[in-house]
Amino acid sequence: MNNKYDVIIIGAGPAGLECAHQLKNSDKSVLIIEKNEIIGPKICAGGLTNLANNFYIPENKTRSFAKQIIFLNKKQYNITLVNPIKTISRLDLGQYQLSKIKNSRNIQILKNTKVKEIENNKVFTIDNQIFHFKYLVGADGSNSIVRKYLGLKSEFCFGFYYEIPKITNDFVWHVNPKELKSGYIWTFPHKNHTNIGVYFHPRQLSAKEAKNILEKTLTDNGLKFSTKKIKGSAINYCFKGYMFNKIFLVGDAAGLASKTTGEGISFALTSGKEIAKKIIESNYTTTELNKNSKN
Ligand SMILES: Cc1cc2nc3c(=O)[nH]c(=O)nc-3n(C[C@H](O)[C@H](O)[C@H](O)COP(=O)(O)OP(=O)(O)OC[C@H]3O[C@@H](n4cnc5c(N)ncnc54)[C@H](O)[C@@H]3O)c2cc1C
Repeated sequence: MNNKYDVIIIGAGPAGLECAHQLKNSDKSVLIIEKNEIIGPKICAGGLTNLANNFYIPENKTRSFAKQIIFLNKKQYNITLVNPIKTISRLDLGQYQLSKIKNSRNIQILKNTKVKEIENNKVFTIDNQIFHFKYLVGADGSNSIVRKYLGLKSEFCFGFYYEIPKITNDFVWHVNPKELKSGYIWTFPHKNHTNIGVYFHPRQLSAKEAKNILEKTLTDNGLKFSTKKIKGSAINYCFKGYMFNKIFLVGDAAGLASKTTGEGISFALTSGKEIAKKIIESNYTTTELNKNSKN
């Protein structure tokens, strides 16, 4: 295997895969390094707002909801959106993105390989491979090793959820500032399960409090769950820039997720696309990213 690439992308999430997609058939040789064997699965509720509408995702991979039910301090409001919110499984999203770059003449994908270190223009993997880059793209999520290498701090919100086997039809938000402060509880119906979770800021609510509120909501709604199956992760919302000489940050690694809602897939896709354009054409001005950085 070649060990010198024009562009090395660390992470095959939405940001890294979209970046590679935009670099497809360019004059750049690209290596994506992904720590997982299977591309796609990630702790995420899989909600897509209209901000992701610039990216074509086949309709048969999503469920679509124009009607939203909002419980504000337990009082119900129904709203209808012009642009429906969709849900998608992260496995389906990842595999669809992968299908668009598979077998590209200029893109190689190295799965099941974690990057452990970066030094000057080299990355080192845990199985002791060394790759050289001209450009490095940190698409490695909220706990980004590239971000750490750049010495940038992160700030995190958190999301916990249960996947309930029951298939529901209502897209629901519970907003209750007394209990949840600036956080909320979501119910996102998917094709074969329902994702119900809590989003919160750790400065306002402890993980234990958030978990208790989530579980009480499930119990009050007669939904069964196994406490062992709770899933959760951090979301980095601390944007400090996305271009650092020959190193770029995209998606959660760049802190592009929304602090208010935790939404990050659309920003990951947009930043992956825009950074690829910047790599191809150094004079390219990334107005889309400038918009994102203010969210
Ligand atoms: C509980 C929860 C619910 C969420 N719900 C939503 C939602 O409904 N809608 C929404 O828009 N956003 C949601 N988000 C946020 C969303 O998941 C992220 O914003 C989005 O996944 C960011 O994409 P990314 O490509 O930047 O990073 P990621 O999707 O995190 O992908 C990073 C990739 O890098 C790989 N990687 C990491 N480190 C290394 C390494 N050292 N070497 C090699 N590979 C590495 C990982 O395996 C992963 O594949 C949620 C987040 C959480 C935690």
